[in-house]
Amino acid sequence: MRVGSPWILTGLGSGGKPYLNFSRNRHVTTISSKQPLRYPRMTPQKTNPFESWNIGSGPKLIIAGPCSAESEDQLLDTARELVSCNIDVLRVGIWKPRTKPGTFAGVGEEGLAWLVRAKQETALPVIVEVATPGHVDACLGQGIDLLWIGARTTVNPFSMQALADALRGVDIPVLVKNPINPDIDLWLGAVERLSRAGLQKIAVVHRGFSAANENVYRNRPYWTIPIEMKLRRLEIPIICDPSHISGDSQLVFAVAQKALDLLFDGLMIEAHIAPETALSDARQQLAPDQLAEMLKRLDFKRAHSDDIEFTTTLEQLREQIDLADEMIIAALAKRMRIVDEIGRYKQKNHVAILQPERWKEILTSRIEAGLKRNLSERFMRELYRCIHAESILHQEAQFEDGDA
Ligand code: PEP
Ligand code: MN
Repeated sequence: MRVGSPWILTGLGSGGKPYLNFSRNRHVTTISSKQPLRYPRMTPQKTNPFESWNIGSGPKLIIAGPCSAESEDQLLDTARELVSCNIDVLRVGIWKPRTKPGTFAGVGEEGLAWLVRAKQETALPVIVEVATPGHVDACLGQGIDLLWIGARTTVNPFSMQALADALRGVDIPVLVKNPINPDIDLWLGAVERLSRAGLQKIAVVHRGFSAANENVYRNRPYWTIPIEMKLRRLEIPIICDPSHISGDSQLVFAVAQKALDLLFDGLMIEAHIAPETALSDARQQLAPDQLAEMLKRLDFKRAHSDDIEFTTTLEQLREQIDLADEMIIAALAKRMRIVDEIGRYKQKNHVAILQPERWKEILTSRIEAGLKRNLSERFMRELYRCIHAESILHQEAQFEDGDA
């Protein structure tokens, strides 16, 4: 934490979000022993966390493949192209958890035979999504190398327990995607059910979280949650799925780079021989050449600091900034909607837009309020000059509309 900061980071609130304790005395700059940081001290991981899994050439595990197997040709063509991208594991969905019935729900068990062929031809280990004990049995029967549990399954403790029971005593790597809702305990609980069943090769996959309000991302990343996951279970490798976070092939690179900068241990990326024809998640899948180009461009070594405590604290603070900015923008939009209403009202009552007395009153009172919160007079004056100029434009627009 930066020395000289006027606040104290005291711990994590719900959902792993750090809460800031605004000190009444702005000059307090030390972390009191009564308010210890909850983060454990740790040394950065230098080794390949997948070494004992006998998988990947490390240090980062690259998993790629189509959202869904659609036909034997589509799968084999994709797999052949992906070999030259130097990926470590081929991912394929054959049972697809779709939001609505009547949409393509995967080819089912038939696809396992195609996967076996892809594996024989490419020598790539394969990973498949399982959601029921029946899926587990089918995969184990065909020698599938790794399994992953999807977000819609992690969210359900009954399903997770049934899967853990089906996997009891089996030595297979399992990747657990985060649940669709931002609940770290549910995610941790799913992992715990598997480890209690004796599984030792467990990794987690961050694929973002459903959010009610619109956002650039299909699933909001809420980076503080995977970071908190890493802090709580240091021994568990964490992989990022930038495809399902992005929902858009154009955004995949930036999300993947961010994950690497945050010291994630690998990436799971959707790639399809002809993304535009894909039967599921067409918008977010990359063509093999796009994947190859992206993997070349990604900086696998970049980290702003080797110190994971620094990196994670910084990210948590940046997420606070993102949220604060969203609130500022929403408040400004609300203010302008009220301004529009005032504009219409003034126009109807033949009152002039500019009311110098009111403007003077606003400026003085807002500067005063800002000073009380440690915002400089210069800053408040500039800020309100901009807000006022925009307000005048809004009112003018209302007058023009009313006159028209
Ligand atoms: C998938 O990986 O294709 C998938 C369905 O993922 P998620 O569980 O993250 O939605
Ligand atoms: Mn998908």
